[in-house]
Amino acid sequence: MQPNAPTPCPHCPSDEERTVIVSKTELPPAPYICPMCEGVRSDKPGACPQCGMALEKNPLAMRNEPECCGDGGDDEVRDLWWRVRWSAAMTVPVVLLSMGMNLPVIRDISHDASGWMQMVWATPVVFWVGWPLLARFWKSILTLRFNMFTLIGLGVLAAWLYSVVALVAPNWLPHEATHGGMALYFESAAVITVLVLLGQLLELRARKATGSAIRALMNLAPKTALLVRDGQEIETPVDDIQIGDVLRLKPGARIPVDGIVTEGSSAVDESMLTGESMPQKKEAKAAVTGGTVNGNGTFLMRAERVGANTLLSQIVEMTAKAQASRAPVQRLADRVSAWFVPAVVGVAVLTFLLWWKFGPQPSFAFAVVNAVAVLIIACPCALGLATPMAVTVGLGRGAQLGVLIKNAETLERLQVIDILMLDKTGTLTEGKPSVTEIVPLPGLSARDLLACAAAVEALSEHPIATAIVNAAKERNIPLATVTGFQVITGGGVLGNIGESEVFVGQASFLKKNGVFIDAECHARSAQLQADGCTVVVVVLNEKPLGLIAIKDKIKESAPQAIQALHALGLKLQMITGDALPTAQRVAKDLGIDEVAAEVSPKEKLLHVYQARGKDRYVAFAGDGINDAPALAAADVGIAMGTGTEVAIQSAAVTLVKGDLRALHQAFALSRATMKIIRQNLWFAFLYNGLGIPLAAGLLYPLTGWLLNPMIASVAMSLSSVSVILNSLRLRWFK
Ligand code: AMP
Repeated sequence: MQPNAPTPCPHCPSDEERTVIVSKTELPPAPYICPMCEGVRSDKPGACPQCGMALEKNPLAMRNEPECCGDGGDDEVRDLWWRVRWSAAMTVPVVLLSMGMNLPVIRDISHDASGWMQMVWATPVVFWVGWPLLARFWKSILTLRFNMFTLIGLGVLAAWLYSVVALVAPNWLPHEATHGGMALYFESAAVITVLVLLGQLLELRARKATGSAIRALMNLAPKTALLVRDGQEIETPVDDIQIGDVLRLKPGARIPVDGIVTEGSSAVDESMLTGESMPQKKEAKAAVTGGTVNGNGTFLMRAERVGANTLLSQIVEMTAKAQASRAPVQRLADRVSAWFVPAVVGVAVLTFLLWWKFGPQPSFAFAVVNAVAVLIIACPCALGLATPMAVTVGLGRGAQLGVLIKNAETLERLQVIDILMLDKTGTLTEGKPSVTEIVPLPGLSARDLLACAAAVEALSEHPIATAIVNAAKERNIPLATVTGFQVITGGGVLGNIGESEVFVGQASFLKKNGVFIDAECHARSAQLQADGCTVVVVVLNEKPLGLIAIKDKIKESAPQAIQALHALGLKLQMITGDALPTAQRVAKDLGIDEVAAEVSPKEKLLHVYQARGKDRYVAFAGDGINDAPALAAADVGIAMGTGTEVAIQSAAVTLVKGDLRALHQAFALSRATMKIIRQNLWFAFLYNGLGIPLAAGLLYPLTGWLLNPMIASVAMSLSSVSVILNSLRLRWFK
């Protein structure tokens, strides 16, 4: 395994630019990539030219693939399975001949004849059935990119060659080799080949499981849809569906693309995209998402987003890209891997020389066996796979839960976050406020006050405006025409009704402009705010008319989620444009540590910068639309999506459903994945750190322990598989 070597691009002038192109994956996605070596791309299945590992299908390219194409991975599994069976069958006689000296029939075979028979059975195992291993070994030598196959090839060939020479021309060997009977190691060469092939098979199978989350997501989209045209329902391939097409959804059918319900109603199970287990009621005008499952109802929908623009396609694409990215923790493993193989070969040579020189008789045979054991036990793959396997499974699991993490670096960074800043409206609250109280000043009716405010608010898109306009509509209040409409960011709105100027907004903004409300009104306002309401003042020609109180319900998931986030040791801060008393009440109800109120969107950015200054890491969770600058400024920006409206590319983390439980899951998933990565790396380092000295016979002088190369090959194969199986535990993360 070599450090990342990008594919050279003939059109680019410098190495730096080439690297950028490959790392940004701007090239069209290659059908096959290496799970371990960044930048290795291929058009066909095969072995990675750097680490020798079997290439795997690139999920980014899979979408464009015609269905008739066979799965290269499956071909490889079939081929390996065939090789394992044949090599095992041919290895049985070799093992019996070499180890069953006391068995009937075998004990009658002469030592020489047994040797020749072992050679006849073992040679095809090594050179014919085991050919893929030797081919990769040879390629690694030719390209000087040393990897696990360099070690295995050297080990197997050394054992085989030594045995052939010992059998055919024992005189060529130093006297010590044949001292006390000629030792042959054909069975080691054959058994190692079988076990490494078996290990490859297990590894390939386990690796396939690591990508299962993304494959499952991809399979959510049905292949056909029922297109309604001229009153007819025609089964049409999903790829042919256009924006604006009307589709029929039957009970139990998967929704083919993103769209809007136009007729009928049903409950839709969205758990596969959002992790939300309760089916969601959908009626006319409700948004539905491709890949989710219709319940018992039937309805018509209009296609709004198709092809690569559907939420499902975006989730798949983002997750696949993220899985291919590299986590910073990987650097340590990368650095070690670069010199790992040459170092192991060095240790093997040293082992050989020391045993030959100082070992007991037959010292040459001991030297060969122990050097072979060193070569075979060392496992660079466990190191190389430790991080990418956990990242792949972790990010895939996140995608299934509706937690989309942009890359491996974000996944890693989430675990070091100290402070989580939360926007209030739409993040902690539902973002759908409603008017709870109308307080006109003496001499005015509530209806007049609302009419005045609603006329101006009709031109605003703020959730407060929507609440006021809805309240007017409920009371059938007609809205006057407004001219000269202006938005005062974080303050309110301004407009003219006829000759009069109307302002609706924050009292503190008025105070700054020399307009004051009377003491009684002020007291009522304070009371309402202490109750968690947002209070706006309505002013006509600089004269206050009264107050309107609006309340936004706290999300049902919030209290539990805040508790869970606290339990992770995060410090929570609420940041809002709302007045301090309102904000404080919400914070108190939820148990949030700190509050910053009356903060404009620009100031939110400053808050993030200030908090980040002192060696602390800050995440900001907001709705992704008005909070974009703060999201970008934070160490990790978390966009709370609302189903279909997510802009996936904008934040480092996107929660498909704006559910606060998902916020906790994002942090918990990061910690769980990093824990697995640390375990994997520890295991890989420890395994190699203990295995290599043991194989070299370091303990022999003290305990008489030596490691049989066949046992070494079992350990080697199991070490990669253990790393993968440990990573697969993340599939059950909740
Ligand atoms: P925001 O930063 O958008 O959360 O707004 C902060 C504060 O400005 C709100 O709590 C309101 O007091 C006031 N405000 C903003 N937009 C409006 C509006 N359209 N109508 C009334 N008040 C508003």
